[in-house]
Amino acid sequence: MIVSVLNNKGGTGKTTSAVNIAAATAQRGKKTLLVDLDPQGNATTGLGFEKATLPATIYNVLSQTRRADEAMLGTKVENLWLIPSNLDLAGAEVELSSAPGREYLLREALATSKGNYDTIVIDCPPNIGLLTLNALVASDLLLIPVQCEYYPMEGLPTLLKVMDLVKSRLKTEFDYRILLTMYDRRTALSRRVLEQVRTNFDERVMKTVIPRSVRMAEAPSKGQPGIVFRPKNTASEQYRSAARELLETPPLAHA
Ligand code: ATP
Ligand code: MG
Repeated sequence: MIVSVLNNKGGTGKTTSAVNIAAATAQRGKKTLLVDLDPQGNATTGLGFEKATLPATIYNVLSQTRRADEAMLGTKVENLWLIPSNLDLAGAEVELSSAPGREYLLREALATSKGNYDTIVIDCPPNIGLLTLNALVASDLLLIPVQCEYYPMEGLPTLLKVMDLVKSRLKTEFDYRILLTMYDRRTALSRRVLEQVRTNFDERVMKTVIPRSVRMAEAPSKGQPGIVFRPKNTASEQYRSAARELLETPPLAHA
């Protein structure tokens, strides 16, 4: 199953969710590949890699100078591999814009890996450009982290409209789930967002809710997923629960 973690809004917990859910599925014994598809390379540094000295990146894979398996790095988490990213990827959007089948490059590049891994998790950049379109086309399931605040929730209908457009124009099929992040049960706003999102999106909202946690924010500076850095933290427990919930989500087949 290929899961893309995306939201065109910045800072909603995409990378934190991608890294921790990928690490949690790996810890459950599933062979897992995390693809860093963001030029910011946050998932790459979050797993302890130095962005300046990477032998190959997702940029090389998309521009077809490396195969996906040639760009993969083993990580300190058992069963977890990474295709890293750095600023090289920033040029890809322009360079690949005239490539034939430009929206299908990632799906094709991951076709072989899809059979070799139980789960592939893709961390998307905070916009809907060519990179995110590639992730949408490659995915069976989209995971949309929504921070428990007002603006992120306000942007959701627009994002869902774009997803529908991609489905019909690019003839692809995927399902989606919303993951509420940075929940603070002491604030009325968090509780209200939770309630409204559940009312509006019903069974498409993950039962698991990720609480706000200083430890989660601290983990990337240690080059570790939060669930490895502080396994007993409540947010870590919830990310393990989110991974379990996702693995139980039956994906729709590609059209
Ligand atoms: P971008 O759009 O820039 O890629 P993002 O959606 O990937 O951002 P993150 O980088 O995961 O979001 O998170 C944004 C910030 O919030 C980071 O500083 C991160 O450490 C922090 N953060 C994420 N999840 C939590 C949490 N549960 N509790 C506290 N802080 C968190
Ligand atoms: Mg990110």
